[in-house]
Amino acid sequence: MPEGPEIRRAADRVAAAVEGRVADEVFFAFEELKPFEPVLTGRRVDEVTTRGKGMLTRFEGGLSVFTHNQLYGRWYVMRNGRLPKTGRQLRFAIGAGDHRALLYSASEIEVLDAKTEREHPFLSRLGPDVLSQAPTVEELAARLGEARFRSRQLGALLLDQGFVAGLGNYLRAEILFEARIHPRRRARDCADDELTRLARSILALTKRTYRTLGITLSPARAAELKAAGAKRSEYRFWVYGRANAACRVCEKTLRAEGIGGRKCFWCPTCQPAEATGRRRRSSS
Ligand SMILES: [Zn+2]
Repeated sequence: MPEGPEIRRAADRVAAAVEGRVADEVFFAFEELKPFEPVLTGRRVDEVTTRGKGMLTRFEGGLSVFTHNQLYGRWYVMRNGRLPKTGRQLRFAIGAGDHRALLYSASEIEVLDAKTEREHPFLSRLGPDVLSQAPTVEELAARLGEARFRSRQLGALLLDQGFVAGLGNYLRAEILFEARIHPRRRARDCADDELTRLARSILALTKRTYRTLGITLSPARAAELKAAGAKRSEYRFWVYGRANAACRVCEKTLRAEGIGGRKCFWCPTCQPAEATGRRRRSSS
């Protein structure tokens, strides 16, 4: 499944085509949504925003179209009169001026007003979206310390969309590596400076992945490897997918184990199982 940065990229393309413009065509494939076609046509698209792996297209007047791509959904932006070469089924389309934004294959599409959005079973339990809602380091560090999150293994917590929306399997491993924190540790056992480091890493890696189209390795290191002839798959990650390979920092053998139901990768030396920083006063 694509992670938050890939969805934000898709939202950027859709926004470039329709945001701030009046929708002159709205199409829904699902029968129950057909009545909204004439309601939304002629309204301006105010905003295209993301909530983790979901997207909200907000129309003037208070209605929003919520879409979740799951595994197969895919957005295309095309000039009017053109269709993408795909065997997929068109599910939702917005036309505005010269371009149309077309969503194929997605099965989760809903029209929400302010109340149904607030009460939505998926949206209402999401944590902040790093790219669309811009939480601060301090906010994320404080969130890590909240009672509902502090006793969870960090490797599993980072996959929980209720903690932060948009992190998936490769981002959580890369975030924990850059923060030098073992995935089986818990926030309650971390020093304050470790929680700050982790919060900073969540923001930095998500933003970097968005800019680099999925490369989490530091830009300098990735450029160096690329210049030496490495393929993209070889200069993309610090630890993800690299079990039994050498750590790029200390050269020790990387480990992998299931955490939070999916395989997680880490370095046993760079990410020690015990706290290394100053202890929290509350837990010492
Ligand atoms: Zn290492």
